[in-house]
Amino acid sequence: MSESNPELSLESWLVTGGRPEEPGMPLNAPLVPSSNFLLGADRGYSREDGTMGWDALEAVLGGMEAGKAVAFSSGMAAAAAVFDQVRAGALIAIPEDCYQGVAGLADAGAAKGRWRVERLAIDDTERWLRACDEADLIWLESPSNPMLAVADVEVIAAAPRKPGAILAVDNTFATPINQQPLAFGATCAMQSSTKFIGGHSDLLGGVVTTRDDDFFHALRRSRTLAGATPGTLESFLALRGLRTLALRMERSQTTAMALAERLEAHPAVSRVRYPGLATHPTHEVAQRVLGGFGGMLSFDVAAGAGAADAVCAATRLIRHATSLGGVESTMERRAAIPGQEHVPPGLLRLSVGIEAAEDLWTDLDQALLSIR
Ligand code: PLP
Repeated sequence: MSESNPELSLESWLVTGGRPEEPGMPLNAPLVPSSNFLLGADRGYSREDGTMGWDALEAVLGGMEAGKAVAFSSGMAAAAAVFDQVRAGALIAIPEDCYQGVAGLADAGAAKGRWRVERLAIDDTERWLRACDEADLIWLESPSNPMLAVADVEVIAAAPRKPGAILAVDNTFATPINQQPLAFGATCAMQSSTKFIGGHSDLLGGVVTTRDDDFFHALRRSRTLAGATPGTLESFLALRGLRTLALRMERSQTTAMALAERLEAHPAVSRVRYPGLATHPTHEVAQRVLGGFGGMLSFDVAAGAGAADAVCAATRLIRHATSLGGVESTMERRAAIPGQEHVPPGLLRLSVGIEAAEDLWTDLDQALLSIR
């Protein structure tokens, strides 16, 4: 199988990585639905040893960050495997604004007395630097879901840490196309491959990448013991999605920027949160740490929650759905989700797909005008 090639750009690696090399083999890593393998070689049982499909997916994902990847059954399974690495009684620092599932995982462990949790504002770099001295797991999510705040991952990941501390970055919104946490010095980066990696809203998956060999083996061991292994078909679909990640991301973020600018000027909208906007509170940090501003944005409908719900009901092209990162644009009022009390009631989170920008704007505009 082709290995990471440092001379190739990320775009070319996404297309060429993880493919069989031997004459007569199919161009794509084949779908091999098998839990069991004939004994006598490296692979015996797939929960422990993986399958050819995982190997190909992990090769491409790891190669994107000059590291190694461990694929999981979902983003949450990937996050849980990272949390699984901390000792009993550890201190875990997570952002005030982050995916509610990860906050729930942290809270559930704290309630059982496994660890203590501190929640920090994403843009409070000084506080994160102190956390690097004190915490055993420093969990950044940047840009954050759903407030789109950007952490100074470059500065925080390069800072000295308490011995043995893990610095993890949930890179789901940026993907390695826009942000490379391992290059900044993070222990690992995590992504829900359900989102931009898969890109078609047809699979659940997760991945953790690292350049630390011991950490890689510890993650694999957690996956084997918890059984949080990716499915055969899901791995195949995730790799197929990954081939077009660069193209999809480029298109989504160009459109997201155009929509963010137009939404800012819309009378029905009181605030737009997109790291690419000069008005965004962490725009300067975003310009430095992100290679692109991504396909996610949120905006506040001035008339509040009821009006925001009406906007979701009035769009035709943009689908009212919770997940994100697909080729189709999706939108949701995030304060309606339990655990999102800090989110403004009228905030809509928009995942920008690859439809024509003008069609998306026409749809948004008519939906926003329909509530007046
Ligand atoms: N991290 C972020 C930023 C997310 O948005 C999500 C899901 O929405 C997850 C993690 C969890 O991923 P999954 O739903 O694949 O378990």
